[in-house]
Order: sequence, then structure tokens, then C-alpha cells
Amino acid sequence: MRKLIAISVALFFVFGVLIALNPGETQARVTFVTIGTGGITGVYYPTGGAIAKMINKKRKIYNIRATVESTGGSVFNINAVLAGDLTFGICQSDRQYQAWHGLAEWKHRGPQKKLRSVFSIHPESVTLVAADDAGIKTIQDLRGKRVNIGNPGSGQRQNAIDALTNAGIDYKKDIIAENAKAAEAPGLLQDGRIDAFFYTVGHPSGAIKEATAGRRKVHFVPITGLDKLLAKYPYYARAYIPIKFYPSATNKEDVPTFGVKATLVTSADVPDKIVYAITKEVFDNFETFKKLHPAYSVLTKESMLEGLTAPLHPGAVKYFKEVGLLK
Ligand code: GLU
Repeated sequence: MRKLIAISVALFFVFGVLIALNPGETQARVTFVTIGTGGITGVYYPTGGAIAKMINKKRKIYNIRATVESTGGSVFNINAVLAGDLTFGICQSDRQYQAWHGLAEWKHRGPQKKLRSVFSIHPESVTLVAADDAGIKTIQDLRGKRVNIGNPGSGQRQNAIDALTNAGIDYKKDIIAENAKAAEAPGLLQDGRIDAFFYTVGHPSGAIKEATAGRRKVHFVPITGLDKLLAKYPYYARAYIPIKFYPSATNKEDVPTFGVKATLVTSADVPDKIVYAITKEVFDNFETFKKLHPAYSVLTKESMLEGLTAPLHPGAVKYFKEVGLLK
């Protein structure tokens, strides 16, 4: 026992001396930054990874170490950012709008005034995938079917409800609504446990590839008749699903639907220098960033300042002004 104590004391001193001799590691305190994303087969997860990669490359300059967390999606991320549990979160532009204005999931808690936007990222489309054998050609055919509308905390859940409501379908009565996470939906569809699922996601996404590449043949269901919906909600726009990414789906042409944008948000409590550093690294190395996922191919720097509702974080404003993206 004595020997053990002696060894422990000796080790303690050795480490103490090592730390003292290597002040670079200890004095420059590393700031840990977390980025909330979504399911690992979505596009948020690799997007969080892409952003983290940009900032982690400059660790020596900023002393920032960014890590990515897989989460339940937009609504979860916004709430976790506001609670200080995440530094950044990726969320749909419509969910950012709702949180800022105190709508949808935030109706009872009111406007979320600490929410700040950083930049927007790739477009996401409301994607309705159905099994060919389930007889679902239009959204109307979902009546009586088992449909995954998404987990609470996800962005797509409200989009699914809006799409159904717009088609005159009550998700509580007219369909059998499931609440599974997007990452589980392809497996449920392939196993015959659901007939269709909604996922609001950028393309290509791993989850949609998984859903279309199984033994059960599947297709995308067009979501049309959108005039009323688009007039009612300022954050929705027409979009389509490029089927070139999903050669195993049985559609022959791109599929019309509606969509939003992925956006990066943070809290007013996050220091300017962290938000500045992340913004600078993504924008200064824009061409490198763009190559990190095919869903970014349509991005321009200017477009990444669009679709934001919450005020820009001052750290982002500082960078955008420096480079002339903001006046
Ligand atoms: N749009 C989805 C959500 O907000 C996540 C999509 C993704 O992970 O790429 O929950």
C-alpha cells in the first residue's frame, strides 16, 4: 500500500513538472465549442463536421476545438443553444423564424430573443418517400396509411403537418402518424412497418439513399397545390428533389415539393470572437468548404446571408462588414 502511495505521489510530481515545462498547452486555454446537428444520415451531421473541420484546422490561432453532436434536429438544437447546452446549432430557416417570433413549438414560451443567426447553408426540401406497393401517388393517398411525420424536436415534423393540413388531411385522425427519428425511417419503410415518411433534408442525404436502395421499391411523392401554403407562410418556397442522386428511386423526373434552408444559429451569450472565427474560416475558405458536401454546390457567399430571421450575431456582423458582405 505504501509503495502504491509513493508511486502515486511520484507520478503526480512528474506530471506537474511536465505541465510546468510545457506552458503552451496549459496557458493558452482551449475553448470547446459544440455544434448540434441531426441524425447521422442527414446533411446536418456532415455539415457540422465541415464547419468543425474549418475551425479546427486553425486551432493554433484561435484555440478553439469544435465537436459535433448528433441530435433530434432543428427544434432540439434551437432549444439547446438557448439553454447554453450547445454553442451552435443547425436549424431550418422556418424553425428559426418560429422561434424568434414565438410560434409553433415556441407558442407558449413566446419569442426567443436570445437567438442569433450566423449564416445560412444548403437548401432543404420537404421529402415524402413512399413504398411503391402502398398505392401512394399523391399526398391525398396518405389517408389511412402509416406515415412517419418525425420525432418531436425535428424540423420536419411541422413541415409534414403543414403539408398534410394544406391537403385537407388531419394528421391526428386521417393517417396513422408515427414519431420516429429520420435516421430510423428508412429501415421502418424497408421492413414494411410504415408506408411512407417525411424528411426535410438537403440532397443527397444518406437516409434517402438508404430508403431508396433497399429491396422494397420506393418513390418520391410530389407535393403540389401549394399556393395557399406559400401565401400563408413567408418562409416556404417551391423546391424540387433532384432524382439524379437517387438512381434506385422509381421516379423518372425531378419531384416538385416545397422547401426551406438550413441555417446556423447561436445565442447572444456566445462571445463575439468565437462566432467571428467560425464565420471567417468558413467564408475565407469558401471554395474548400463548398467541396465538403454536394448539397453545397449551389451556395454563394451572398446567398448565405439570406433566409435568416433572428438578428445576426455581432461576431458574424464584424466579419461580414470587414469583407464588404454587409454595409
Ligand atoms: N431538417 C432536419 C431537422 O431540422 C434535419 C436534416 C438533416 O439532418 O440534414 O430536423
